This record gives sequence, structure tokens and C-alpha cells, in this order.
Amino acid sequence: MRVLSGIQTTGRPHWGNYFGAIRQWIELQEGNDAYYFIANLHALTTIRDRDLLRALTLDSAIDLLALGLNPERATLFVQSDVPEVSELCWLLMTGAPMGLLERCHAYKDKKSRGLSADVGLFAYPVLMAADILAYDADTVPVGEDQLQHIEVCRDLAGAFNHRFGDVFVMPKAKIMDASARVPGTDGEKMSKSYGNTLEVFEDPRVQRKKIMRIKTDSRPMEQAKEPKQDVLFNLYRLVGTAEESEAIASLYRRGGFGYGEIKKELAEAAERFFAESRERRREMEADLEKVRQILGDGASRARQAARQVLHRAQDACGVRW
Ligand code: ATP
Ligand code: MG
Repeated sequence: MRVLSGIQTTGRPHWGNYFGAIRQWIELQEGNDAYYFIANLHALTTIRDRDLLRALTLDSAIDLLALGLNPERATLFVQSDVPEVSELCWLLMTGAPMGLLERCHAYKDKKSRGLSADVGLFAYPVLMAADILAYDADTVPVGEDQLQHIEVCRDLAGAFNHRFGDVFVMPKAKIMDASARVPGTDGEKMSKSYGNTLEVFEDPRVQRKKIMRIKTDSRPMEQAKEPKQDVLFNLYRLVGTAEESEAIASLYRRGGFGYGEIKKELAEAAERFFAESRERRREMEADLEKVRQILGDGASRARQAARQVLHRAQDACGVRW
């Protein structure tokens, strides 16, 4: 399979991002031809601070590499390093119905809150379609929230193919495991915009404090509890081994334990779980040249693939003459 996915550079990765997306990308790099990119052009619709955007771009790459993305298996690159995609985006835009984009939720949500949207946000799904189609990707691992955009991509590809011949490979969404939906420190879905995140690379002491503040229920200690209904357990099972999680689960079912103890265990398990990545991250931060080299190599591989697709599309619609 030719797999493609992008990560937004809008903040530091949290457990939701890791268990809900990044981990699955890393698994998919084995046995597939995987392309992963840092979506800095998409980020430009929300980040208008040059230094911040540049820093986040490099940081996101370091995060992925530290978490196990292997540049010898997968092609890792920065979106803006492949200008072919922006050209392809225009070709797709000329055939993108307004109504289709008006129904897309990122734009619709913003409008419905009475905010003014810019064209970049409106056309975001077209750029995303170009991102996917430029590499002949057939599999796009996404969260459920991105399904609509994959449908738009398929619509645009289908319309182009219908008009101009068989140009684009029709991609399919691969919905990432929904059971990996990670709760935040308030029990709601973990999300940057809810301010309830545990970050993958935050200082373990800071993280421990956040964990110690998680609100728990006030049932008597002796009472047996169903582990899967408790946020602490649902977080624990992500970072604990299967045996450790089972041991904790039986504490819940038996009752007679304190949440303080579980919180301590959770903080420790989290620190262990991400220790190796944290160490790798430190090494990479000390060798930014190497990171730039990896991104440069990735960009040239990606450009080579995108150029072929762009030429095919340009030939088909008559702008290459
Ligand atoms: P925002 O608040 O800006 O929407 P976010 O914290 O929800 O940010 P996204 O950038 O929307 O993060 O998420 C990127 C991807 O990470 C999603 O497509 C999804 O696959 C995964 N993801 C995010 N949050 C969770 C979560 N709580 N549980 C599981 N997966 C998640
Ligand atoms: Mg989100």
C-alpha cells in the first residue's frame, strides 16, 4: 500500500495524538510505502507567527523521529518543500464546486460561530486532496473527524478523472482505531483546544502534577469499581504493560484501593513508556543538521513522486504544452 498522512504543526503532541494517530503511522511504515508530512501550509491558516511556525515545523519532525518514525522506511518531509502540491491544488480547485466546500465542517463551524473565514480555510480540503493525490496514495490513515475531507478528495479526483481521463489513484480512508479515543484530564476527549492534555514530551514532574490533579469520583474506597469507566484506568492501560493493566484492573474490581496510589502508578508508567523517546528526542535536538538532512532527503523523494503525478494531470487538462 502507498500510505499517506500529514500532521498539523499547531502544538506539542499529546497522548491523544500519539495513541490515536502517530503510533499507528509508525506501525504502518512496516511493509508499506509510507509518506508522512508536516503540514505547515495548512498550519498557516491558524499560525501567523513566522518564528513559531518555523520552530513547530522542526519540532514536529523531531517528535515523529523520536517516537519511532524511521526515515529509512518512511518518507518524512515538510509540505511546503513540495511545491508541486500547490500547483496540483490549483488544478483541482478549478473543478471544485463551491457547495461541496461550503459543507465542509472546519469552514462551516467557523462561519456558524459568526467568525470570518479566509479563503485558505475554505479551500483547505482541496489542498488536502492535492496532498493525497500527489503521491498516488491509496490508503490514508485518519481519525473519524477527517472522513469528510477524504470524501471531498475522492469527489475531486473522480470529477477530474471523469473530465480528463484516468489521472488520479482513488484513495481510501483507513479509520484509525476508535477505541484509542484518549480521555483528557477532565474525562472529556483529550484535545489541545480543551486544555486537558497530557503531552508526550512534557517534563515528567509537570505531568505528575497534572495527573495528581485529575478529578476522581467520591465513592467509598471499599466499593468495587468497573475499571473501564474510570479515566485513570483508561489512561493507565495505554502506558502500562498488559500484565500491569490487568493487575490494576483487578484492584478496581476488588475495591479497597486509593486513587492516589493509582495516580502515582500512572505517572510512573507514563514516564517509563516515553523514556526512550524522550532520550532520542534529546539526542536529535543536539543534532539538528541531521534532522534537516532527513527532511531534505524526504523532500526530494516526495518531489520526485509528486512531479510525475503533476505532469500527468497537466498533460491531461492541457496546461503542459
Ligand atoms: P484541536 O483541539 O485543535 O482539534 P487536537 O488536540 O484535537 O487539536 P488534532 O490535531 O485535531 O488534535 O488531532 C490530530 C489527530 O490526532 C486526529 O485526527 C486523531 O486521529 C488524533 N487524536 C486527537 N485527539 C485524540 C484523542 N483524544 N483520542 C484519540 N485520537 C486523538
Ligand atoms: Mg481535534
